[in-house]
Amino acid sequence: MTDLVLLGFSGSIGRQTLDVLKEFDDYKLKAISCNSDFAKAEEVKKAFPSLETIAIASTSGTKIAGLEVLEGEDAGVRLIRKYPKAVVINAVVGLAGLALTLEAIRHDCLLLLANKESLVIGGHLVKNLLKEHKKARIIPIDSEHSALLKLHKHEDEILKYIITCSGGALRDYDLSKLDDATLEDVLNHPTWSMGKRITIDCATMVNKAFEVIEASYLFDIPLSNIEVLMHDESLIHGLVYLKDNSYLAEIGPSDMRIPIAYALNKAIRKELPLEPLDIADLHFRRYNERRYPLFKFIIDNFEDGSSNMAVINAADEVAVEAFIRGHIKFGDIKTIITMTFKRVRGVLVENLDDILAISRIAKEEARIIINELKGS
Ligand code: MG
Repeated sequence: MTDLVLLGFSGSIGRQTLDVLKEFDDYKLKAISCNSDFAKAEEVKKAFPSLETIAIASTSGTKIAGLEVLEGEDAGVRLIRKYPKAVVINAVVGLAGLALTLEAIRHDCLLLLANKESLVIGGHLVKNLLKEHKKARIIPIDSEHSALLKLHKHEDEILKYIITCSGGALRDYDLSKLDDATLEDVLNHPTWSMGKRITIDCATMVNKAFEVIEASYLFDIPLSNIEVLMHDESLIHGLVYLKDNSYLAEIGPSDMRIPIAYALNKAIRKELPLEPLDIADLHFRRYNERRYPLFKFIIDNFEDGSSNMAVINAADEVAVEAFIRGHIKFGDIKTIITMTFKRVRGVLVENLDDILAISRIAKEEARIIINELKGS
């Protein structure tokens, strides 16, 4: 039995992980963490009696029957230190996940990684730390990267890696009205049911640009070797193009329980009790760059070791939040991101503090820009 720490248990991936875990008897769930939403903690304790500790980032003197409670911004990091031999699942949403990823690597953990920011923003810090901690290992929990990991076995024959995108809720939306798309339109994702921010990031393809960067770090391949193919049904998650001109593809249901189970099985494919999959209708298209201007903007501005992605991610977070609250138009998201990027000078990032500092600056700048937009 292996000890397991689930960081971010209350989010979408966290909840699905708990669901999948019920099918596993080789893990002992020892600890969970959340930002502030601990309402379901007692329920989790009932389902997993091995659970001992919960880390909560917000501090409110919480008491939960049967569980030791760690509180504070660094509670997640302290949790990893408390269970240094555990397999760690990082399903935290946002930049807070990066510190946890770095801590898990420092303890040579097997890290099952669903937190995008860890690699998109902190990729070079993660890469450098992995060089010092050769026993640490990352298995991605993301449908595209999990698919590529399975296909990566053909590494010596691969010329190109391809991840698919659905194009999000606005893929067929009238291009001339795109800037005024409503929140309801944008949240109406055609194939996946996910959290709000990622659903909006799908409609702008910010998410897909971030995934390309993640893939580049995970498999140590240049961005130019990774392509994106629009695929309507979200059943093909990743493809590789081989040296004899053939493709291999991973096809499976749009169900995160598959990549979660694959990661928990340490990158081994095992039975999973899901509905059989019908693949009679599969469609592909090229994505229209005019519909997704942020995709190219992000890829063009990626620089290993720089703060560029931290700035773009911070601006995106603020812009998406403002859009959810009805403060800005959908089209303002790209304006806010590109303007923030222009105004916040890039720096070389040497550690986590550098990233946190520039993210704060970028968020402030993005808020100033939102106010300017409102005033104009
Ligand atoms: Mg994905």
